[in-house]
Amino acid sequence: MKKILYYTALMVLIVILLPAIIVRGCGPAPPQKPPAPEIPEKVYDITVYNKDTKLTEVMDLEEYIKGVVAAEMPADFDLEALKAQAVAARTFAYGRMSGAYRSKQGVHDGIDICTDSTHCQAWMSAESAKKRWGILFASRNWSKIERAVNETKGLIIVYQGDVINALFHASSAGRTENAEDVWEGKSVPYLRSVASSDESSKGYITTVTISEDELTEKLQEAYPEEELPESLADDIEVIDITEGGRVKTLRVGNIIMKGTEFRSLLGLRSACFSISSGDEGQISITTTGHGHGVGMSQWGANALAKTGGTFSEILRHYYTGVDIVSISDHEASAQRTDN
Ligand SMILES: [Zn+2]
Repeated sequence: MKKILYYTALMVLIVILLPAIIVRGCGPAPPQKPPAPEIPEKVYDITVYNKDTKLTEVMDLEEYIKGVVAAEMPADFDLEALKAQAVAARTFAYGRMSGAYRSKQGVHDGIDICTDSTHCQAWMSAESAKKRWGILFASRNWSKIERAVNETKGLIIVYQGDVINALFHASSAGRTENAEDVWEGKSVPYLRSVASSDESSKGYITTVTISEDELTEKLQEAYPEEELPESLADDIEVIDITEGGRVKTLRVGNIIMKGTEFRSLLGLRSACFSISSGDEGQISITTTGHGHGVGMSQWGANALAKTGGTFSEILRHYYTGVDIVSISDHEASAQRTDN
């Protein structure tokens, strides 16, 4: 019995204690490295004016971006397109939070952004989005949007170190627009006309009909000083077009106006249009694409994603010469430049 105990003790020594002694070595134990202190991730807040509730809410930027992606892009788009949308939307928002860009004044002064897509960018709550998608798709679609935002967390687009004005639109007309062809002002180096494949977008080519009387009425309201001919249908002429293929200027009777002005006067889907006279006193206007045409085309982004383009490639295609960086790196480098 004593022998058994002796051998058991010996085995314990050999099997357990000896390797521990060998591994530990004979010298003093090396000093333990203290764990690296955890740096809390910076959280960015944004103040959002909700055009429906007329309330202003402070939101976590990343949570806000989920609501923008849900409202701005169909959830069945490719994940890389949704990621590109998340980065563009975050950049657009950050541009306003940081004061680099200002939304049209007088609408929500002192508040970063609003939920009106025609003024800032659209937004909807997770509840509203899920209701819209219906019970079958609510959870799947929201998870996909969360993934697009989480996988691009904190990323924004910069041009030569400055945050860009990340404009986007629904669909282009084969090419996007140079910013200066749509709005007055100097050209923007990263908002240049580039090729875009948008043919699969809904209502890519749309024809609307308007009566001569209606057109005359709208023109008279906008140009009360101008005398208009009796029949307008045969007195409309496109004078020139932009690099992006949209109407730059046109003549309606004696009035010379910008294509963008004609678009907004009649609420057309795009300034890429052709006009023809239809049946008695009717004018037919056929538009291609949807939106102002500047920056990223959402349908074009989806087309690029479907052929294997990553979100970064999509953004670099639509915004010329840009880099994609994190907000914290951007702020650190801006601080270094200031010092
Ligand atoms: Zn706004």
